[in-house]
Amino acid sequence: MIRKANLSYQNLDGKAVSESIRADLKARIAALGGKPTVLATILVGNNPASETYVKMKGKACEAIGMTSKKIQLPENCTTDMLLRIIDECNSDPKIRGILLQHPSPTQIDERAAFDRIAIEKDVDGVTAFGFGRMSLGIPSYPACTPAGIMRLLDAYNIELSGLHAVVVGRSPILGKPMAQLLLNRDCTITVCHSRTKDLPGHVKQADLVVAACGKPEFIQGDWIKPGAIVVDAGYNPGNVGDVDFKACAERASYITPVPGGVGPMTITMLLAHTVESAEKAK
Ligand code: NAP
Repeated sequence: MIRKANLSYQNLDGKAVSESIRADLKARIAALGGKPTVLATILVGNNPASETYVKMKGKACEAIGMTSKKIQLPENCTTDMLLRIIDECNSDPKIRGILLQHPSPTQIDERAAFDRIAIEKDVDGVTAFGFGRMSLGIPSYPACTPAGIMRLLDAYNIELSGLHAVVVGRSPILGKPMAQLLLNRDCTITVCHSRTKDLPGHVKQADLVVAACGKPEFIQGDWIKPGAIVVDAGYNPGNVGDVDFKACAERASYITPVPGGVGPMTITMLLAHTVESAEKAK
């Protein structure tokens, strides 16, 4: 259902969609009957950006009646210490989701830590097992940003089947799971990265572009096929995404603004996955 060129674009309003999902989650938390649903957030070290993200997640939990248990570990924490904390969270029945804030200090074996999270509490989609299940289309909690993008596209009833989707970026939390989720919905996928030759040529083929490269306003307006859907997962200093919004909007049918597009959907999916985990446990 891609619209024809020369029609004006429509914003994919992640803020509005998030608000409506969060209202539903609030009611579902209340229906769980008073026992606290707990999201454990684990932060290792003192990275100020990570501290802000964890704080935002804690606030979002409280706003829907969920409890967040903030676990702060010292900068010199070892992998063994972290694994012990994750084991405690795994065996605590009140904790329904575990979020280990990325990035961890370099002495930490982050892959080992992610993979220690019990699959049923992997609400941030970071375990290798969860990634495999997601890729195979088996029920799982996919990484929250790509999950949020899928939910946002669905909220606008965008028909994905048959679209050529070009994903710019291949990180484990964003580009790779994004490509898998779109493939599972019958898109034809091209994944681009820093070694891709002729990136503009690939993007020009896209019915749907997902920008996830961490480069401010990198995707140019004249790369966009008229009528394409443009999803900007980027978030860079100065409140700009990975897409040149103004220029791309001139050619797009739908586009996500920054801020207010993909960003709010990410935390909402973390909440949604935790509520689902609590409902399953009940
Ligand atoms: P990342 O781990 O740094 O990965 C960036 C990806 O972009 C890599 O795969 C890299 O390729 C690729 N890339 C870099 N330069 C490129 C170029 N010139 N051409 C094509 N591809 C290029 O970043 P990330 O964690 O996936 O995040 C990506 C963006 O999303 C950032 O702006 C970040 O702030 C944002 N983000 C937003 C949210 C949210 O909630 N809204 C959540 C997470 C991330 P190589 O693999 O070859 O290095």
